[in-house]
Amino acid sequence: MGIEAFATLANGARIFSPGWYRQAERALKTAQRCVARRKKGSHRRRKAVVLLAKAHQKVRRQRQDFHHKTALALVRANDVIYHEDLQVRNMVKNHHLAKSISDAGWSQFLAILSHKAACAGRSVVAVNPAFTSQTCSGCGVLVAKGLSVRWHACPECGTSLHRDHNAARNIERAGQALRGGVAVAASENRESVGL
Ligand SMILES: [Zn+2]
Repeated sequence: MGIEAFATLANGARIFSPGWYRQAERALKTAQRCVARRKKGSHRRRKAVVLLAKAHQKVRRQRQDFHHKTALALVRANDVIYHEDLQVRNMVKNHHLAKSISDAGWSQFLAILSHKAACAGRSVVAVNPAFTSQTCSGCGVLVAKGLSVRWHACPECGTSLHRDHNAARNIERAGQALRGGVAVAASENRESVGL
């Protein structure tokens, strides 16, 4: 999950929030500035406040619509969906205003995704995102990079792809290992109770 693209998948596909949603967000900012400029208690300010509330509602509805459509497409195409654990990520990475705002949107999206997956008998698994951007998804060495470095180029094995694509591949692998571990533990359990 990112700011540049809403989400990047392990196969390299990137999901962007649609233009009509970004347009509604811009209109919301304009409405906010309009209220801020008008005199408190004035008739014109009251009118601007009503317009601001409408703009808020429109953004909320469009965000929800985008989340529902995206979640549905992901659940239809995948039996298991691995994503970075937002709570862990917030503890690991530095706080950024833009980030924390979009994080609120992501937790809403993940709730919708989990619900749709459960209805369809699919799984959604949260994965610890530590080192998933820094680790090379091709050979596993650490390739340190700041937040502004958007491309992963490995000096060891030559893997070269978008930073988010590299992280998505690492998250998929970590999630598969996690599920593999759960399956092994479950079968060991069965053996220990004599099944
Ligand atoms: Zn490498």
